[in-house]
Amino acid sequence: MPYFDELDDLPAADLLAWAIRTFGDRFCISTSFQRSGMVVIDMAVRISPKVRIITLDTGRLPQETYEMMDILRDRYGVAVETVLPDPQEVQAMVRRHGVNLFRRDPALRMLCCHIRKVRPLERKLKQFRAYAVGLRRLTSWNRNEIRKVEDKDGVIKISPIADWTRQEIDDYIQRHSVPLHPLYQRGYASIGCAPCTRPVKNGEPERAGRWWWEDALPKECGLHFRADGTIGRKLDVLIEEVTQATNGYGFDGSGI
Ligand code: SF4
Repeated sequence: MPYFDELDDLPAADLLAWAIRTFGDRFCISTSFQRSGMVVIDMAVRISPKVRIITLDTGRLPQETYEMMDILRDRYGVAVETVLPDPQEVQAMVRRHGVNLFRRDPALRMLCCHIRKVRPLERKLKQFRAYAVGLRRLTSWNRNEIRKVEDKDGVIKISPIADWTRQEIDDYIQRHSVPLHPLYQRGYASIGCAPCTRPVKNGEPERAGRWWWEDALPKECGLHFRADGTIGRKLDVLIEEVTQATNGYGFDGSGI
């Protein structure tokens, strides 16, 4: 859409104000409470204290992430809406591949992210016309192309601070005393599910602590970038198996 290019030039707060004004309660912020996401939340709540905030509860989150939900409630007076995976899909996946499938194979790891994150978010976003995230360019090589405003399957995805530097993020946090996820204090640089995130060492990139056993793959869960090539095709088969199983068919295709 042509006007997306004009919106792309707006400063972050103006872009958020436009989205809140245009979409009202059909707009939300989707967050996992990382630094950049907290900046977007703080900015949006200043524009409208009623802005909706959603987060994915994968069932594998660290306790500190649940603490962040209460910290937000105390600080901003907002109730974070949790988005849960479909229990039948989780059950089918775990029965077939085990609860810690993500360690065994990259496609199985992406299946877990798909069932616990991607599909629940896709279902939830059907309620909305637009949503904002704290994505930034430069956090990894495959994020350099992030647009500030784009159409994502009929829902407008807004990355208001896509062009911010880490220094700008830190300056904003300090200026506005934005609360930070407790795991940053323990050496984490990027925060996700408990079994798939570790602290980073000095000099490592921000996302090096995510799925650290997968050296050559993009550090992504599929929410923002889709797997392609052989892994993408393998993932599609694995997803199909799980969804078939929840539709009443066994993994051997004979029905449950
Ligand atoms: S980050 Fe790990 S536990 Fe969380 S959904 Fe992805 S693979 Fe599963």
